[in-house]
Amino acid sequence: MNMIDVHDIVIIGGGPAGLTAGLYAARARMSAVLVERMGFGGQLLTYEKVDNYPGFPEGVSAFGLGELISAQALKFGLKTRSAEVTGMQTQGPIKTVRLSDGELQCRTIVIASGASPNKLGAKGEAENTGRGISYCAVCDAPFFREQDVAVVGGGDTAIEEAIYLTKFARKVYVIHRRDRLRATRVIQEKAAANPKISFVLSTVVREIQGGPQGVEGLLLQDLQKETGYQLSVNGAFIFVGIRPNTESVPGEIKRDSQGFVYTDQEMATSVDGVFAAGDVRVKELRQIVTAVGDGATAAFNAGRYVETHFH
Ligand code: NAP
Repeated sequence: MNMIDVHDIVIIGGGPAGLTAGLYAARARMSAVLVERMGFGGQLLTYEKVDNYPGFPEGVSAFGLGELISAQALKFGLKTRSAEVTGMQTQGPIKTVRLSDGELQCRTIVIASGASPNKLGAKGEAENTGRGISYCAVCDAPFFREQDVAVVGGGDTAIEEAIYLTKFARKVYVIHRRDRLRATRVIQEKAAANPKISFVLSTVVREIQGGPQGVEGLLLQDLQKETGYQLSVNGAFIFVGIRPNTESVPGEIKRDSQGFVYTDQEMATSVDGVFAAGDVRVKELRQIVTAVGDGATAAFNAGRYVETHFH
């Protein structure tokens, strides 16, 4: 093997965590390659505006923030590759990241592959996905101008996306399984003040009903009364949490019961030379600001690992 072809660090994922790891690695003059299967920005691409990233008192466009972070990383010389990661060999000093169109050899790996929305698992969900069922309000809200839609879930994503949907929809029903929301108080208060949003609490979706034109309604069950009823809506946006993108992560990297990757405070995983950053890892607070912190920490410690083991 020609050691020139062995990179110091391969970063998997081009969201805020991966891009920041790339920025720090490139700026530290490591030979770094970031692999991303779609566009840069990760889950930022599914949001409209970010209100809680420091430095932007008026908020910042989510897409714009992704572009700024990637421009900064590229300016410092980060190399990128557009491909799907299909697997990795993590044992020994030289590791391999297998791609849809080849492979990369490296001394360290940073897994920053993020997370994807969970499915609800309701009857009719799969059949109506793309026909009125959506997992991304920014992508699909304009299709529901002056129509009635439902949002399922009670976390930050559900409530923020419900607020976004009111720009287009006539009415937005938030359907949540408990009698209180999980979302942060400031987000809840904003939604409560929005006259287009109605909360349907202690209620679960039994079925998503579709017709020739797509979604026509939901079969709901009020858990306090044990009664079922139908709600007419033209669309349903599902935001019931996230699952980690770890299809290509091998078994020797320890993960929790939901598949999130364990790290220590240096972002090191259970395998030497393999780090993880951002939403893919087990952590308390999943936000852009913590993802970029993880990315910086992972790249810094990957750099230290290379210095210690290879120089
Ligand atoms: P989340 O916080 O895990 O919330 C998921 C919601 O879906 C919960 O209300 C949960 O109900 C509900 N749910 C889960 N499974 C369900 C099922 N099978 N049927 C019905 N309801 C179900 O997920 P998230 O809102 O996607 O947020 C993910 C992470 O990103 C969180 O850490 C969040 O704080 C963060 N985030 C932050 C911001 C921000 O800071 N602006 C924005 C978006 C996301 P229960 O409440 O009953 O468990």
